[in-house]
Amino acid sequence: MGLGGIYVGTAGIPVSTKRRNTIEGIRRVAELGLNAMELEFVRGINISRETAAKAREVSRELGVVLTAHAPYYVNLLSDRKEVRTASMERIVESAKVAYIAGAWSVVFHPGYYGEHKSEEAVRIVRESLEQVVETLKGMGVSIWVRPETMGGLAEVGSLEEILSIVEGVDMALPAIDFAHIYARSIGKINGLEGFRRVLEEVERRLGREALKNSHVHMSGMEYGERGERAHRNFDESEFDWAAAVEVLKEFGVEGVVISESPNLEGDALKILGALKASG
Ligand SMILES: [Zn+2]
Repeated sequence: MGLGGIYVGTAGIPVSTKRRNTIEGIRRVAELGLNAMELEFVRGINISRETAAKAREVSRELGVVLTAHAPYYVNLLSDRKEVRTASMERIVESAKVAYIAGAWSVVFHPGYYGEHKSEEAVRIVRESLEQVVETLKGMGVSIWVRPETMGGLAEVGSLEEILSIVEGVDMALPAIDFAHIYARSIGKINGLEGFRRVLEEVERRLGREALKNSHVHMSGMEYGERGERAHRNFDESEFDWAAAVEVLKEFGVEGVVISESPNLEGDALKILGALKASG
């Protein structure tokens, strides 16, 4: 399921899209010279099967790789069983619609620790993920399913946790959000050294395959003592996005890089420019 290259795009429809819908968003991505777009199901799965099928057609035609982001309202660690069940269903449904759209990868947020310690939380999320993957396999849906590294300290999603959740699970790999890792470390993991260690750890635990099939998020970031506060544009943040891009090049990472800055395509174009620059 490798893409054989690195694709860069926006978290949702580019800001400069005139008629704001998914199909026009894909066209705008291509016009801008970008080649990826994440379908944002974050407030619900907002596209019909018909639109998904059309998105598949248009994205293939224009060489745009699609990914998807499952709803924010997911908590696989809720103490209420109906919330856990609904959360798994939302991930399954996101993956299903994304697959119809020809998407390569779907990202989700695991949820909140609540009363759980890290180890227990990892076990619970991992078991849920295994169930999700089994369900998808049963439906013939083939797509990468990825828990994301999270920026808030109350959220399950340190790099170590995410690696432990996916290790050895079929169809599962991490979504690496460098800005979240930066926020979660309260600004300590930033720059070449820190970001190198992130990718070294991914490779050590999951092998080269993970680096050849990476799903990366980046944005400018504001943090506080509990981690992530808000996404910002690169030029309003200390987050060293250029170092993150440099490290992607060093490690020969392939896959998709998505800009989640408020200016979406503004920072996506910066990422693309830095990836293309030699040296
Ligand atoms: Zn996310």
